[in-house]
Order: sequence, then structure tokens, then C-alpha cells
Amino acid sequence: MEVNGPNIRKYLERFIAKPHKKIRLKKFDTGWVKHEAFKAKSEEEAKQFLKDLLAKDRGDLAAAQDILAASRKYGILIVLQGMDTSGKDGTIRHVMSGVNPQGCQVYSFKVPDAEDHAHDFLWRYEKVLPERGMIGIFNRSYYEDVLVVQVHPERMEDLPAAIGPDVNGFWEGRYKDINAFEKHLVRNGTVVLKFFLNISKEEQKRRLIDRLSHKEKYWKFSYSDVTERQYWDQYMAAYEEMLESTSTAYAPWFIVPADHKWMARTFVAEAITSAITGLNLSYPEFSEEQIRYFSEAKKQLEEE
Ligand code: AMP
Ligand code: MG
Repeated sequence: MEVNGPNIRKYLERFIAKPHKKIRLKKFDTGWVKHEAFKAKSEEEAKQFLKDLLAKDRGDLAAAQDILAASRKYGILIVLQGMDTSGKDGTIRHVMSGVNPQGCQVYSFKVPDAEDHAHDFLWRYEKVLPERGMIGIFNRSYYEDVLVVQVHPERMEDLPAAIGPDVNGFWEGRYKDINAFEKHLVRNGTVVLKFFLNISKEEQKRRLIDRLSHKEKYWKFSYSDVTERQYWDQYMAAYEEMLESTSTAYAPWFIVPADHKWMARTFVAEAITSAITGLNLSYPEFSEEQIRYFSEAKKQLEEE
């Protein structure tokens, strides 16, 4: 399928948080539709183009995932972070809908339970990492352990004081742990793709009001969404520090403009598809002897 329009992959680079660079989220456009890539297009045209591209990517991703599963050389870990209503669930639904469900696992992480708290903070995530050949999606992740709890350190009171957030260098230590963890994963054949769905505070307000305006969306609403919103600036500060500290050459963060769902979904789909196809994987090769055996088996079946 051909989709005519700007080469979005060319622009993906711009959304990567450069390692060791200061991040000012205010400088990252959450809308982006006025960008030069779409200059010649109206918003409606840009939307249609990106929706077509997403449809194409879905097909490409399904094909790439099949080869990923057949070759069993790499696992793919996709980390999705973002404020409430930033579109994490919808992105998963729209981007992965073409993929074989057997090749993909999604984990949504909620408030840790007592067993989680009884272990190191990475434990519950390590347990469910994707094996080679699989795509694992973390809807929220170990990054919550430097985000929500940095904004609300009182939620970590289970930790002994001697190793808890009051200790100097505690957060720095967690960033280092995360970087080392991801380095370990990458070195062992897991591709780590991290997306921060970047919405504006105004857009969040619109989406929350929308949830409260449709009965069939009530279930998505949680009262804490409104209370957490009051900590918006603290969350943005925590996100900036986290992005600065954990965007690395081997596992970079994509800061995805997410005020338009059709834009965020396509950017994520493009980044995942190009990362998997970039591995240049192929279906397993078979020796002449194996191939002879296959034709023998086929003949036997046909003559049955
Ligand atoms: P949702 O994703 O809307 O279903 O909400 C999940 C909730 O779990 C959010 O309020 C998160 O802040 C919270 N949560 C997820 N991971 C953690 C964590 N590691 N520590 C504390 N709270 C978390
Ligand atoms: Mg929620």
C-alpha cells in the first residue's frame, strides 16, 4: 500500500530526547500539526494522511512481527508513559490491532501490591519481560517508580528509612538502576522502545470532561485524575528529570506530540515498525537436507 505525503520517519529523530541534554517539555510541541512537514496540508488533510499511514504501518508491523517470531533472535519491549488520558490504551489498541495476539503481550501496571513492595522496585517488571520473538508492551512501567512516587514520596513509606527516598542520591540511584537494567536487556537481545505521550494540560481537561460527558466512558474516569491534575507542574518536572536521566543511545525516549490521537498513534507505529524492520531479520534458513526431508514428508502426506 502506497501512502503519499511527508516522510514521517525522517522526523522521528526530532522526537528523540537527546542523551545528556537538558529537557524543557515546554519546548516540545504537543500539537505539531503546524509543522513544516504538513505545511501544505490543512489539519484535515494531515489527519487523513496520518490515518492512512497508520493503516499501512499496521500491515507492515504484522509482517515484521511474523519474522520477529520466526527468527526468535530479539524481543521487543515497548514502554508507554504519559499523564492520565494521554492515550496509552488507545495507542496500544490502534497500533497493535494487526499483530498476532500470540506474539504480543500487554501489561498494565497499577499501584504495587504488598508482594511487589517486598521486592526491589524492578522485580515486578522483570517477571514479565518479553522473550525472544515476542513484543511486550508495558502500559506504565518501572518509570512510575521515579515519577508518581517522586511526586508523592509518602507512597513509598513501605521502604526502610535507610534505603528510602530521604536518602541522598536516592532518585539518582534509581535512574542508574534503570539505565543499567536497560543496558543489560539491550545487550541480551531486547530492543527497548520508550514513548512518552506528551499532552498539554488543556487537552487533558478536554479529555476528562469528555469522559464525564458520555455514560459509556464513565468507567474510564477515576476521581484521582482530577486530584492528580493539581500536581501537573510537579509531574512535568519529574518527567523532565527522568527523560534527561534515562534517554540513552541504546534505549532513547521518544517524546511524542499527543494532543492529536491520530498523530501520536502514527508516530508510535512508525517508530516501532522502523525499529523492527531495521533489525533486518529473516525467516530461518533450512539446509538442503532439511528441505529434502520436507519434500519427502509432503510426498508421504499426498500419497496417504
Ligand atoms: P491507570 O493506568 O489509569 O489504570 O492507573 C494506574 C495507577 O497506578 C496510576 O494512578 C499510577 O500512578 C499507579 N501506579 C502505577 N505504577 C505505580 C508504581 N510503581 N508506584 C505507584 N503507583 C503506581
Ligand atoms: Mg486512569
